[in-house]
Amino acid sequence: MHLEAPVPEIKVPIIWVLGGPGSGKGTQCDRIVAKYGFTHLSSGDLLRAEVSSGSPRGKELTAIMERGELVPMEVVLDLLKEAIIKALPDSKGFLIDGYPREKEQGILFEKNIAPVNLVLFFDASENTLVERLLGRAKTSGRVDDNEETIKKRLHTFNTHNDQVVQQYPDKLKKINAERNVDDIFAEVTTYLDLLVA
Ligand code: ADP
Ligand code: MG
Repeated sequence: MHLEAPVPEIKVPIIWVLGGPGSGKGTQCDRIVAKYGFTHLSSGDLLRAEVSSGSPRGKELTAIMERGELVPMEVVLDLLKEAIIKALPDSKGFLIDGYPREKEQGILFEKNIAPVNLVLFFDASENTLVERLLGRAKTSGRVDDNEETIKKRLHTFNTHNDQVVQQYPDKLKKINAERNVDDIFAEVTTYLDLLVA
C-alpha cells in the first residue's frame, strides 16, 4: 500500500476513459496515443500484469477477475498511482482506461492523485458488447472473455456506471460507440483538441 506517498503535481491533462467491456476503450486509446502521445494506462492491463508477475497479490486478483467482480479499489489505485508517478516526467497527458469502475474509485482517485479534466464514456448496447467480446475472445486469451464471465462483467458494469458518470456532468462526453472506429475517433478528437489547445 502506497496511498500515503505523495504524488508530484500533475500539470498535464488527465482523461478517464469509461465504457462497458468491449465498448472499444482500448481501440480508441491506441488511436489517441498515436495522435496525441498521451500515456495509456489500462487498469485491466495493470491488473493482468500483476497477475502474471505471480505475486501473492496477483493470485488473489486472479480469483476475483475470473468471477467478473471488481477487485479492491485500493489495489487498483495503488497500481495506477505507481504507473503515473513512473511516467510523469515525460508524459503529455494520461488516459486512464477502465477506471473508475464505481463512484468511490473516482472520489479516491481525485483525492489521492489529481482532479480529472475530461471523462470520455463510450456507450454501446449490451448486444453489441457481447458480440464484440465473443469476437475478441477468439484471440485475446483473457480468462474473462467467455460468455459466462462476460454476462457477469456486463452486470457489474451496469450496476455501477450510471453513478460514476452522473458524478461528472460538466466533464462528461457521452459518445455513441456503436459506430465504426474512425467515426468514433473523429468525435473524440474534437474533445481532445479543445483540451490540448
Ligand atoms: P474495451 O477495451 O472497451 O474492452 P476493446 O477496444 O478491447 O474494448 O474492443 C473489444 C472488441 O471490439 C475488439 O475485438 C475490437 O476490435 C472490437 N471493436 C472495438 N471498437 C469497435 C468498433 N467501433 N466497431 C466494431 N468493433 C470494435
Ligand atoms: Mg480494454
